[in-house]
Amino acid sequence: MLALFTALLVALVVGILGLIYGLSFLHNLLAIVLVTALAYMLIYYSLEYFIYRKIKLIYKSIHQLKTQRTDPSSVPYFGDSSHDPIAAVATDVQAWAEARKGEIETLKKTEEYRKEFLGNVAHELKTPIFNIQGYVNTLLDGAMDDPEVLRHFLQKAAKSADRIADMVNDLEAISNLESGRESMELEFFDINALIKDVFDSLEYMASQKKIILDFKEGCNYTMIVEGDKYRIRQVLANLVTNSIKYGRPNGKVLAGMYDMDENMLIEITDNGIGIAPEHLPRLFERFYRVDKSRSRAEGGTGLGLSIVKHIIESHDQTINVRSTPGIGTTFGFTLKKG
Ligand code: ADP
Repeated sequence: MLALFTALLVALVVGILGLIYGLSFLHNLLAIVLVTALAYMLIYYSLEYFIYRKIKLIYKSIHQLKTQRTDPSSVPYFGDSSHDPIAAVATDVQAWAEARKGEIETLKKTEEYRKEFLGNVAHELKTPIFNIQGYVNTLLDGAMDDPEVLRHFLQKAAKSADRIADMVNDLEAISNLESGRESMELEFFDINALIKDVFDSLEYMASQKKIILDFKEGCNYTMIVEGDKYRIRQVLANLVTNSIKYGRPNGKVLAGMYDMDENMLIEITDNGIGIAPEHLPRLFERFYRVDKSRSRAEGGTGLGLSIVKHIIESHDQTINVRSTPGIGTTFGFTLKKG
């Protein structure tokens, strides 16, 4: 377009000059046509050679960056001379800038999340470490001479050491799940038998609070599902343990199984303290606790539900929670039917 416009301008000048110098109409017309064609070709090829080629090179680099290809020969070069390289570059740069903006936002969020997470880990580890320091130093300062105090403080120090070990184990589990280092080992198994197995292993803990572990009516039947059995056991153990920890003494923890065509919905319900609605959206976040002191008193790390969510999402399935304070809580997750 630019070449044609300039060529026409030159032709106009030539035409005027022809008129001034008194060229005949035919000669003038011939001169105009010749000069237009010549000027067009000259300008077009100059532009192509000196400007468009360089723009195309820039475009090529951007395109390469966008596609993240390292082999330049694999990036198509748009050598079509009818193409408008300036418009193409403008569109591409804009799209590229927008994509980068999105990436920068995500990176910023991840960075904030990382900082917050590090802060949380340090904060959570501080308490049991300080406790151990306190008990050990007090013992060394002379308290160990009293066998009764010695035993008591050592027990307390051991409990704090257990908390640190639990937290490190949970952090390792999250890190492994997030990095995908340990892949899911899918197999077919009976979910009903697995729930019974988990109930059996937590029977003692439940009996301490006189809580009954059972199935909801009509929900106690064999059902084969597909999943990583070891990890689904972890999920169930975590949910049932929470139901007992935050459950009502003399209460009930009930398991439900519901057929949803392709999937099974597994629910663990308690009639415990419940959770206020404002806490529900953040419940699966790492270290999020509704009642921090109660969670710590129960020996919780605040990481259990985030591990549970990770495991279920690694199965491409979903987990949800509904709860009413003072009435109880239900956690439900889906699994593919076998
Ligand atoms: P924790 O180790 O503190 O139990 P979780 O990640 O397992 O950590 O749970 C996060 C928080 O969710 C708990 O601190 C508790 O406040 C709340 N919670 C989990 N399960 C229940 C439940 N069944 N009833 C009431 N509150 C619950």
